[in-house]
Amino acid sequence: MSISILSCNQTENKKTSEEEKDFQFLIEQFADIKIMRYQIPGIEELSLDQKKLIYFLSEAALAGRDIIFDQNYKYNLSVRRTLEEILKNYQGDRQTKEWIDFNVYLKRVWFSNGIHHHYSTDKFMPAFDQEYLATLINNSPGSVFPLMEGQDPGTFTNWITKVIFDPETAPKRVNQNPEKDLIEQSACNFYEGVNQEEVEAYYEGIRVPGDETPISYGLNSKLVKDNGKVSEIVYKVDGMYGQAISRIIYWLDKAIAVAETEDQKEALEVLIGYYQSGDLELWDKYNVLWVEDLVPLVDYVNGFIEVYGDPMGMKATWESVVNFKDIEATQRSIIISDNAQWFEDHSPTDPRFKKGEVKGVSAKVITVAQLGGDCYPSTPIGINLPNADWIRRDHGSKSVTMDNITFAYDQASLGNGFLEEFCASHEEIERIKEYGYLAGNIHTDLHECLGHGSGQLLPGTSSDALKNYHSALEESRADLFALYYMLSPKMQELGLLPDKEAAMAEYDSYLRNGLMTQLTRIQPGKQIEQAHMRNRQLISRWCFENGREENVIEEIKRDGKTYYKINDYDKLNVLLGELLAEVQRIKSEGDYEAGKVLVESYGVKVDSGLHAEVLERYQKLNLAPYGGFINPVLLPVYEGENIIDVIVEYPDDYTEQMMKYAKEYSYLPTYN
Ligand code: ZN
Repeated sequence: MSISILSCNQTENKKTSEEEKDFQFLIEQFADIKIMRYQIPGIEELSLDQKKLIYFLSEAALAGRDIIFDQNYKYNLSVRRTLEEILKNYQGDRQTKEWIDFNVYLKRVWFSNGIHHHYSTDKFMPAFDQEYLATLINNSPGSVFPLMEGQDPGTFTNWITKVIFDPETAPKRVNQNPEKDLIEQSACNFYEGVNQEEVEAYYEGIRVPGDETPISYGLNSKLVKDNGKVSEIVYKVDGMYGQAISRIIYWLDKAIAVAETEDQKEALEVLIGYYQSGDLELWDKYNVLWVEDLVPLVDYVNGFIEVYGDPMGMKATWESVVNFKDIEATQRSIIISDNAQWFEDHSPTDPRFKKGEVKGVSAKVITVAQLGGDCYPSTPIGINLPNADWIRRDHGSKSVTMDNITFAYDQASLGNGFLEEFCASHEEIERIKEYGYLAGNIHTDLHECLGHGSGQLLPGTSSDALKNYHSALEESRADLFALYYMLSPKMQELGLLPDKEAAMAEYDSYLRNGLMTQLTRIQPGKQIEQAHMRNRQLISRWCFENGREENVIEEIKRDGKTYYKINDYDKLNVLLGELLAEVQRIKSEGDYEAGKVLVESYGVKVDSGLHAEVLERYQKLNLAPYGGFINPVLLPVYEGENIIDVIVEYPDDYTEQMMKYAKEYSYLPTYN
């Protein structure tokens, strides 16, 4: 599971050193996206072997890049490579508005790892027209366009034009509309020739009833129907994506030689075995080794992991994050996980739904050194893995907070006017400047390290009983757990927060975002679909409505602008506790109907008047609601054959990095 940034413009504090002041975090902005950079503080102090380990794992992280494009949509690589050829070779005027629009479109394709918006999953359209695309294709001599078998240049141009411009072709990557066939209405590339019923029947047929430790069925394969027969094409060396997977293995193999511990070495070997065979038993074995090995400073995520990209929630997109532990900042995570049982025991949920014994929540604050696959350029700020329920139950989970990423977000938003526009009062602005960064990080720690791991299902309740509402409710549960405890005196007792004001800053941010400012990410006329956004509005609206009588949260209109002001933080805390108890009940009992009502009543619908107002206010600030990052470059320094050091460079040109990746990490054929 992962957590995304709450609101990319929410905080404005933390003291900065002189060096950090000179570093340019915000690089460029286009469409609804800003591109930033992050630093890797502390990497110089690592040992040579640790640096080499980071370097090898980083190469493995980049080697899988093409996979995510192909998983998102089967013609994404075709579109990307066509556009990249044009960028290299176009001989016409490169000063026109159309050319700039072309560049923006290509940057969006890179950013989203395909032609669908990375967040809304809607297909986005170029601002230039179809004729211009033909002009570009016809005036880019020397280009090698990815023609499919049987296509001549003319039919290729017509075909790729349709892929890019036709609103009816692949309109949405992940469509969760429960009224229709989830698979047929989604453009993602996990299924071909099968409908939802056939998919369900296939996996029902291979599932072992009563298995206490089931493999993650379907996680690493595409399900297809050929001549009436349904079967899986597995991602492995001699299967689908084999060319990229063999490069990933090549670098993981080098990493083994410099692994920090025997356990880390073994885990890497098992991971390689899994990539070679596609055997999901090995994937589980790897995850158990990985989650239990807490010694190494350098750590990584590498694999087919998150299932947000599949409307069925089964098939995983490929991702990688390379990192090392921030020992000092990790102290706060250790405090939280050491007290995990206390938090579980004192939560406002029904005792039947609590975990008797909280197992192995290991939490740490990490410094990210490289992002890859589905985590690049748009990255989560926290991750809690592995995802398999039984591994979490029997072996615990690893929870990480990515401080250098949140820090970069924070720095990039300095002085952008967002708080001044949307905060209800001057005190609120001051409070968030003082505490916002710290409180946000503590929230993420609590969400990842305790929230997701808390509670238990009643015997007989299936973990997928909440179906299409599962993700939103699960994120709500984790957020509510975090929010509920933020205001507890326990936080000060444990030295996690300096005072109550810090928690108040988090409540202000959270409610303002959930009630209002996250709507900057929604297009006019659309409703909320993304799980984290549904969750945030669900919590905020529910508390607003249920605290209405006592005016817990006040809606203020001033000069035609809407603000939300929290009048009673303690009462709000009580409401959060009540909602947490209810959401936990829904999960523990698998109460689909109640979950549906909660999400549909509070988390989905957008107030169109407020939405229009927020968009207008936001537009004047000229900010982008989404952000992503350029990767630092890790450069090995050689003496003869041997690497004697790894140095870090911070490139500042997004297009350059993308074209470099296209050149150096294009391991997959265009059509897989
Ligand atoms: Zn989460």
